[in-house]
Formats: sequence, C-alpha cells, structure tokens
Amino acid sequence: MSDTEKRNHHKVIIIGSGPAGFTAALYTARANLNPIIFEGLQPGGQLTITTEVENYPGFEDGIMGPELMDIMRKQAQRFGAKSIYREITEVDFSKRPFVLKTYEDTYTADAIIIATGASAKLIGLESEKKFMGYGVSACATCDGFFFKNQRVLVVGGGDTAMEEANFLTKFASEVIIVHRREEFRASKIMLDRAMNNPKIKFLTNKVIFDVLGKEENGRKTMTGVILEDTKNYSKEELQADGLFIAIGHKPNTNLFKGILDMDETGYLKVKQGSTYTNIEGVFASGDVTDKVYRQAVTAAGMGCMAAIDAERWLGEFEHKVQMENAENK
Ligand code: NAP
Repeated sequence: MSDTEKRNHHKVIIIGSGPAGFTAALYTARANLNPIIFEGLQPGGQLTITTEVENYPGFEDGIMGPELMDIMRKQAQRFGAKSIYREITEVDFSKRPFVLKTYEDTYTADAIIIATGASAKLIGLESEKKFMGYGVSACATCDGFFFKNQRVLVVGGGDTAMEEANFLTKFASEVIIVHRREEFRASKIMLDRAMNNPKIKFLTNKVIFDVLGKEENGRKTMTGVILEDTKNYSKEELQADGLFIAIGHKPNTNLFKGILDMDETGYLKVKQGSTYTNIEGVFASGDVTDKVYRQAVTAAGMGCMAAIDAERWLGEFEHKVQMENAENK
C-alpha cells in the first residue's frame, strides 16, 4: 500500500449524515474504530430542512432540526469521528477492502455503514421550495403541531397522504386532500378512515399549480395555492395555511443499484432484526432501509444497531485474517 492508499484506508466508512449516520459514527468512534463520515450533498440530512423538532427525546422544549444535527455531529466528533464534506459517486463492494470514490479521491474500508436516507418527493415548483418550512412541509409528524386550528392541504392519493391527513386533524380545523385523479392508490382501510373523518375533505382531479404567500419583515408566510384542474386545466385560488406534500419518498440508493439487494421500491434489504445487507461487511441503517417508521429517533436507533453489527463483524473478520496469515507463514 502506498502512503496515500494507507491514508485513505479506514476500518469503517459511513455514507450519509442524518441521525442514522451520526449515531453510527458516535458508536463506532467510541469503539475506537476511527470512523469517517461522508456527509454528502445535504450535510445533516432531511432534518436540516425542517424547522422545530419536538419529538426527539431528550429535548424537552424542542430543538431546531439543523441544530440537532449539529449537536449529533459534534458529539460523534468528540470521540474522533471525522466528517468529509464530499459525495460518494461510485462504490465497488465486489472486493476487499471495499472501494469508494468521490469526484476527487478513492477511499477503501473494511466495513461500510450506509445511511444515505430517503428524500421526500416534491412537486417541483419554485414557490414550493420558497415556502418550505414556512407553510410547506413534507412531514406531518414533524410540523403538524404548528397548524392548530388552521386549514391545511395534503397532496397525494397514497397511504402516506391518508395517514398524514388523519394525523393533521389532531391539530388543524380543516384538512383538504388534493389528488390528481379520482382513483386512490391508498389501501381501502386508510382511505375509508380518511373519508369517514369529518375534518377531512377531498378535492380530486386537481394539482397544485403554484404556492402563494407573502414576505413581511423578512418573514415568509404561505397564504394559499393555485389549483389546476387536471381535466379542463381551469385554475382557482384556495386559501390555506399549510401544504403537506405526501407524494411518496424515494430512498437514496442509486449508488447501490445492481450491487445491493433492494425491494421493488428501491429500499435496501436487511436481514430481519439486524442491519446486515446481502454483502458481508456492508450494513444499512435509517430511512434508506426503513419505509415504515421514518423517524429521526428510529433512524438513530438503527445507526446504533449498524455500529454494533459492524464492530462485531469486524472483530470476526480481523480474527479470520489473522488465522489465515498464521496458516500461510
Ligand atoms: P405512493 O403509494 O407511491 O403514492 C403516491 C401518491 O402521490 C399517489 O397517489 C400519486 O398519484 C401521487 N403523486 C405522485 N407524484 C405526484 C405529483 N407529482 N403530483 C401530484 N401527485 C403525485 O406513496 P406513499 O403514499 O408514500 O406510499 C409508499 C409506500 O409506503 C406504499 O407501499 C404504502 O402502502 C406504504 N405506506 C404504508 C403506510 C401504512 O400502512 N401505515 C403508511 C404510509 C405508507 P397517482 O396515484 O396518480 O400516481
């Protein structure tokens, strides 16, 4: 190994910097494995696009998403974890050590923890981006509480939209589900529950054409949307305080296509009750493998599991290598 190769070799490399990645970093750092975290294109992950997080245990008065991620990063760094603010663009898990490439460099690792998360699908409007965190949200569990006695819209016709709409009725005075067709992808039970909820109304054959809002003293507030009819393309304005985008999530797994086992929607498959992927030494944790819970606290829990799985696996791996070396002498 050349000096550069040695410098770029690590026992554990973590890809992704959300709650799963940082918790995996904290645990592997405390196990003296000197982990490296590739923070990727969105350092801190999905929580950096939310505002206040009130359901992360330990923060009695809530905490802002970006601040929570900053604390997690610093806590891992305190024990020696190192962040690299680059994106992994290519992986080769067919040989040991595993190879990871960024646009600039090549790194190798004995074990990999994947924590690349998932991204909420967005509609793709400029105004949606502008009011994200100021009325527009992609997470009812995170932000629903801020819409007490207000009118909110939920876009989508799947289980997520029904679930988010039902959840939002705990706070909002009125929830309107906006869906682009008349048929719903949602399961019957979830759809029935939403239809039977007196606070929920449905607007079908409509899409969000634009998000409306105002900006006063530097403070942005969403005030409504322009709806477009999908049949006759007519437009109408609808006043609303919030807009929840619930048109699905996509796991960030493009990098691993054809390399790691995934389900039909692209989530990484792990052995039940563990974080083992189909390749020994490669572990997956958090939203990249979890489409059911998708919470910061469950991702953090899985990050801890991945670190423990990796530490134990590395112990066995190193033992095996020592035995092989002894046999070859
Ligand atoms: P989904 O089933 O893919 O539904 C996405 C919905 O968003 C569809 O109705 C789709 O409309 C609509 N949509 C997609 N792109 C859109 C766009 N650009 N503009 C407007 N509407 C758009 O996603 P999901 O609801 O997140 O569910 C994902 C998976 O998780 C499913 O397997 C679901 O069963 C599961 N899940 C289960 C639960 C539960 O059991 N508690 C809860 C949540 C999710 P079209 O129908 O016209 O395509």
